[in-house]
Amino acid sequence: MSTMSDKALKYVPTTCPYCGVGCGLNLVVSDGKLVGVEPYKRSPINEGKLCPKGMTCWEHVQSPDRLTKPKIKKNGKFVDASWDEAIDLIVKKFTEIYKQHGPKALGFQTSCRTVNEDCYALQKFARCAFLTNNVDNCARICHGPSVAGLSLSFGSGAATNPFEDVLNSDLLLIWGSNAVEAHPLAGRRIMQAKQKGIPIVVVDPRYSATARLADKWVRFNPSTHIALANNMMYYIIKEGLEDKAFIAERTKGFDDLKAMVQKYADATNIHGVPQETVKEIARQYATAKNAVIIYCLGITELTTGTDNVRSMGNLSLVTGNIGRPGVGVNPLRGQNNVQGACDMGAYPNVFAGYQAVAVPENRAKHEKAWFLKEGSLPDWYGSTLTEQINDAGTVVKAMYFMGLNPTVSYPDSNHVRQQLEKLDFCVMQDIFWNESCDYADVVLPGTCFAEKDGTFTSGERRVNRVRKAVDGPGESKYDWEIISMLAKKMGLKGFDWKSAKDVWDDMRAVTPGQFGVTYEKMEKPESVHWPCPTIEHPGTPILHIGKFSAADGKGTMFGLEYRPPAEVADAQYPFTLMTGRVIFHYHTRTQTDRAAQLHYEVPESYIQINTEDAKKLGIQEREKIKVSSRRGEIETLARVTDDVAPGVLYMAMHFHKGANTLTNTALDPLSKMPELKHCAVKVEKIAEAK
Ligand code: SF4
Repeated sequence: MSTMSDKALKYVPTTCPYCGVGCGLNLVVSDGKLVGVEPYKRSPINEGKLCPKGMTCWEHVQSPDRLTKPKIKKNGKFVDASWDEAIDLIVKKFTEIYKQHGPKALGFQTSCRTVNEDCYALQKFARCAFLTNNVDNCARICHGPSVAGLSLSFGSGAATNPFEDVLNSDLLLIWGSNAVEAHPLAGRRIMQAKQKGIPIVVVDPRYSATARLADKWVRFNPSTHIALANNMMYYIIKEGLEDKAFIAERTKGFDDLKAMVQKYADATNIHGVPQETVKEIARQYATAKNAVIIYCLGITELTTGTDNVRSMGNLSLVTGNIGRPGVGVNPLRGQNNVQGACDMGAYPNVFAGYQAVAVPENRAKHEKAWFLKEGSLPDWYGSTLTEQINDAGTVVKAMYFMGLNPTVSYPDSNHVRQQLEKLDFCVMQDIFWNESCDYADVVLPGTCFAEKDGTFTSGERRVNRVRKAVDGPGESKYDWEIISMLAKKMGLKGFDWKSAKDVWDDMRAVTPGQFGVTYEKMEKPESVHWPCPTIEHPGTPILHIGKFSAADGKGTMFGLEYRPPAEVADAQYPFTLMTGRVIFHYHTRTQTDRAAQLHYEVPESYIQINTEDAKKLGIQEREKIKVSSRRGEIETLARVTDDVAPGVLYMAMHFHKGANTLTNTALDPLSKMPELKHCAVKVEKIAEAK
């Protein structure tokens, strides 16, 4: 029975479960139930402000739709099962498949929305139980190219400077990012910069909410980043605006870059930007005392994603805009824990802290710490998230998904569904029954951010605490606890964790760059940025001061050729489709669509089409239209606007039977990122507007 004190309001400080800005907030609890959210005013990240998603982030937690019991598919129908039954079945099936087909027949995928501790637990389990590196996370389809590209340019695949540091800058170059909608509290910093009089240049094919803030908006042809960046660097070098001392002391590769950009003396035929504008923004960026680049998925979600990121690296290195306050290259992370899921080693070629599995000493250290036989851990590059799906049924026979909805969020939904059907065995661990659970053999109820302790690492490498406010529903369990149950069932040592902190400390013990990031240090509202190698270390808000993170301490410039997207508009499919987000939704809407206000704001999908194109096709505002690609077709509402150029369409990625029915699975060769931001489609009118 409740007492008066149970009913007193309790405020639990934690971190927003949505985007990678990592805003602090208080969950408000009364009588063991969430009743609201109160901004956490002491957080230096959001200073007591929240966006619409943050304000409503508690609403889905107590939804009656939550998964409360394990479910097993029997004779084609899902039935409730006990935890023992579910765990026994998973261990039996995975072990059978492993014994018959080996470690490459299993695939493990974790979400960037769950806590670091869950991600670390899953990759440790995959590696210890089945000696496989086939473990990945959904950063693969958002910022995989940032990890690859920034590592190649600077030696560390992470943002270089904190969000608030834009206020120390003299120019913001925002490229392929609609921060105001996708990362609203990072967008707030951009607005503050504008109020301070700091010039803002936005490079984007679309007139986005962020472009509206800019002093200069540069519209360019979709997916022509490298041509535009090379063209800018051609002028920077031609006019002697490169930072010669910085290049000589701190970088390598300048000659390759210089030779390459000569070919881009005038690339307007590719990127569509007049040369006067290219020259102007090149001068602006190169001559600003401190200039920062902020980019997002417009850069990464392409088959040239890694090279696009390296182009941003080239720009910063050639002008010396890196390694001090007010400069840098900062990817804005879409999900709350994109940075952390990668940091935790849920990646096919590295352990936590980006320690390469190919290095014998790294494997030996983990074998010892994880109670494994010497020489047992694999050295091969595991299969990525996208490759695991493509290989389902042939090489990959069983898959384990934690917090993912692949039939909506991965490219070419019809292909994903067909591939999941080919698996011998599939596990989905989640908080709701999502569209992908139908393809599972076992569905397990995990817990959400409000029901567990742990940490999220934000896009600025700040490790923020997540704190339990209420109990999970029914028989749900902490996600790391489920992994621990599986491991213990298999007789593995090293999984006897009693708390999220135990899992975190397990990770710290094998991860030098995060050894000093303790739960105690995270009690401070400002928490701590990694790298933080010792208990005494204060953390590192700004990377690459004096020396790059690469082994030789140098930043590397690359001569990069522009390559067109894998599929371009043609006579049959004459439109280019770009995809993105809206401010009111998060990923596949399993959480945000359960918040009444967010559902009200954007209840269904729509596509932006240029006014001239709509007129030619006889399409009116809010009319239902058919959009098809070589992979599938959808029906959606037209939004007629000049925000997109003629021949270009824009659609948010959040909806089932939406954008990803159309998108292309072609991969970036370096990061295996699919081309989510560019494919060819056609548009047909099907009904008159109401
Ligand atoms: Fe949450 Fe991002 Fe909004 Fe902050 S900006 S409240 S982290 S969704």
